[in-house]
Amino acid sequence: MTASASDPVFFDHASTTPLRQEALQAYLRASREVGNPASLHQLGERARDLLEEARERCAQALGLKPRELLFNSGASEGNTQVLLGLGGALGTKQLAVSRIEHSSVVVPARRLEAQGIPVAWLQPDRAGVVRPGALAEALRRPTGLVSVMYANNEIGSVQPVAELAELAHAAGALLHCDMVQCPGVLPVDLSALGADLATFSAHKFGGPRGVGLLYRRRGIRLPPLILGGEQEDGERAGTQNPAGALACAVALELAVAEQVEVAAQLRQLQRALLSAIRDLPGLLVNGSPEQGSPKVLSVSLAGVHGESLLMQLDLMGICASVGSACAALAMQPSHVLLALGHSQELARATIRFSFGRTNTLAEVERAARALREAAKSSALQP
Ligand code: PLP
Repeated sequence: MTASASDPVFFDHASTTPLRQEALQAYLRASREVGNPASLHQLGERARDLLEEARERCAQALGLKPRELLFNSGASEGNTQVLLGLGGALGTKQLAVSRIEHSSVVVPARRLEAQGIPVAWLQPDRAGVVRPGALAEALRRPTGLVSVMYANNEIGSVQPVAELAELAHAAGALLHCDMVQCPGVLPVDLSALGADLATFSAHKFGGPRGVGLLYRRRGIRLPPLILGGEQEDGERAGTQNPAGALACAVALELAVAEQVEVAAQLRQLQRALLSAIRDLPGLLVNGSPEQGSPKVLSVSLAGVHGESLLMQLDLMGICASVGSACAALAMQPSHVLLALGHSQELARATIRFSFGRTNTLAEVERAARALREAAKSSALQP
């Protein structure tokens, strides 16, 4: 099927990505196995072999040992398990969490705080970066766990994770990194980053929805969130999903192999869009795109009604986002933009374009034209 000029264009790859053909094929092939990986008979063993093959291939792609990876349903589950599991065992030590984390980190951290566990909320700078100084300041108090993402999903800012991990370790704390927005866009070699725990989601890198990966360094054990079985080393009960795991592995291998080339392509799209809209009245670029992830371009348009802008764009066939998909459902101004110092009004007047490997320069030109038109018709009356 070839795309026509009126087909909708997908600029929302931070919310999800199209399933890759290779991953779909792997899924279909593996789905023919009838056994449950936990069963002791030979058909169970065949399913178990597929699951373990997937674990090995994911570990290899991330520079890890297979036993260091758990399969789960995605990063919301992984983040919640890390935060509630380790955060709940901190005793008198505090948890340090950046203010720009995904809600699946922020909400569990708020719950722990409500239960009396001290939380240091790390403030990013205006570009959305948590500077090592901000963490060093927080680490003056005894800290058990630090949670800082690698690339932010709303504005694309990239955090100095290796430096933050060094500081955390020197203070005796573990570092958890939400790496959801990274595979295929940024390097994901975990030994270089120094994170002790990391979370991934297959649907953000061309794999299936509902499949995630949780890395915890050898020696770290997490209490299960889901109870009732000994699967995944007793850290996650529930029948495992060998087909989903294998499709995740195939997509991850491709994402890692193509990362340098795809990152360069996304950077070109990001630059082209920014230069085509730069002169729009009231435009504020969020984060520092050139220093951040090439996947995201987030802009706020002062004096414009954000939701109306998004709807207008949609009518013109441009599928972008107001912020994160989860925040969009809650219709709340984004906590990430508020942390950058935006007013509620400016946070609501924000639009995120997120690029993928199938986007083209012609689509970017179409998006720029549409944004100009939509901005005019969505201007708030003075
Ligand atoms: N963390 C980040 C940075 C994300 O962008 C998302 C998805 O939007 C998640 C976590 C949650 O991932 P999942 O969809 O696998 O639950």
